[in-house]
Amino acid sequence: MPRRKKEDQPQEDIRSIKTPPLIMGMKDVLPTDARYWEFVERTVVKLIDDYSFKRIETPVIEKYELFNHTLFKQSGLAEKEVFSFIDRGEKLALRPEATTSIARAFVSHNMVNQTMPMKVYYWGPMFRQNRVEENTFRQFTQVGFEIIGDATAAIDAELIILGHYLLKNLMLESEIHLNSLGCAVCRPEYKKTLSGFLKSKRSAVCADCRKSAGRDPMHFFSCTNPKCLKLREEMPQTIDWLCDECRSHLFKVLEYLDELKIPYRLDPFLLRTFDYYSKTVFEITTKTDEENTTPVVLAGGGRYDYLIEMVGGVRTPAAGFAFGLERIVNQMKNSKIEVPAGPAPDVFVTQLSEQARQKAFAIYEKIRHEDFTVRANFSKSSLKAQLELAKKANAKLVLIFGQKEIVEGTVLLRDLESGIQEVINQNRIVVEVKKRLKEKKD
Ligand SMILES: [Zn+2]
Ligand SMILES: [Zn+2]
Repeated sequence: MPRRKKEDQPQEDIRSIKTPPLIMGMKDVLPTDARYWEFVERTVVKLIDDYSFKRIETPVIEKYELFNHTLFKQSGLAEKEVFSFIDRGEKLALRPEATTSIARAFVSHNMVNQTMPMKVYYWGPMFRQNRVEENTFRQFTQVGFEIIGDATAAIDAELIILGHYLLKNLMLESEIHLNSLGCAVCRPEYKKTLSGFLKSKRSAVCADCRKSAGRDPMHFFSCTNPKCLKLREEMPQTIDWLCDECRSHLFKVLEYLDELKIPYRLDPFLLRTFDYYSKTVFEITTKTDEENTTPVVLAGGGRYDYLIEMVGGVRTPAAGFAFGLERIVNQMKNSKIEVPAGPAPDVFVTQLSEQARQKAFAIYEKIRHEDFTVRANFSKSSLKAQLELAKKANAKLVLIFGQKEIVEGTVLLRDLESGIQEVINQNRIVVEVKKRLKEKKD
């Protein structure tokens, strides 16, 4: 029977739908942006190693009450900003930030009995029902660092310094702003003063702040109403109400930064809004320029000595900070930062025919297991195209398998830098590659 042409053959009917659009506020990160993400990742990995942080992973979904208690009561994060839903009668939420979850994990696993301080870092998606604007997303990636179980100023300084070097290593120009929000001893007196101030300015503050002036004057911290923002210059400053301990803690943090000659700005209007912050709060922003454009906040955090107690543990001092990955990548692009390529591969394997491809594939696996960094592109058949890829990747050596080499059991070894090319026996590939790489190093 004659074979039927392909188009005559009956085919299974593939049913298509119209491609669903992305959900509002969500974003795909495409491979074209990968070099930025990978560069940040490499930079973070280097620093967490230097500063001995261990990774922690907490779930994306938590009980709603966790955030309700720690974040919404008095903070700038409104209940409506959190993605929440009922699942089989249980109210759940997508995490809007990770510090609360880490505090919850610390208590759940009784980590207080472990060696303190505990230094952890995380890297993952957070969710907020933000208004969707340019470069604001409802799912965004946060990378954060927490040090739990140490009350000393050295910890606050270590985190600020880590943030400073992180941005420096990412080639971003930045500046540090910091403030102290006081503690459970000195804050009540401050709150009373703030409350008195807001009541005396009744007509000048917004309706919300007027209503909360008595019960919760700290609401004013997170208010973005233009009327209230204008009043900030006149408000009593937390720094003037610090108890002796908070004051000396702040000065010690500053001394650490002075010692390293890291510049900072003491900013009495820096009021991070989460209710759990105490003592040091800080933000690292883009540099303020002459045109006085509002600086972009690149990273932020502070001390949160009461958070673990708030989620049901014993009072444990802690501090941390986080940065938004999308915002950092965006800033790198805006600042036209040339992202350095990853480490150059040792060997690029190329091939010139179907038979050569099979051999090249086997060799590729063999030398990959020898701990060399190896690259190849088996979808390409033209040598010119493959050599271009090898050059682009900055490969040190290239192995070329052609028809002739396959028959003879040899391979061409080319040094891309010098252009020198030699025929070597296939059995000696590993030895010869090792030798050449060593020569290059010396
Ligand atoms: Zn205090
Ligand atoms: Zn207000």
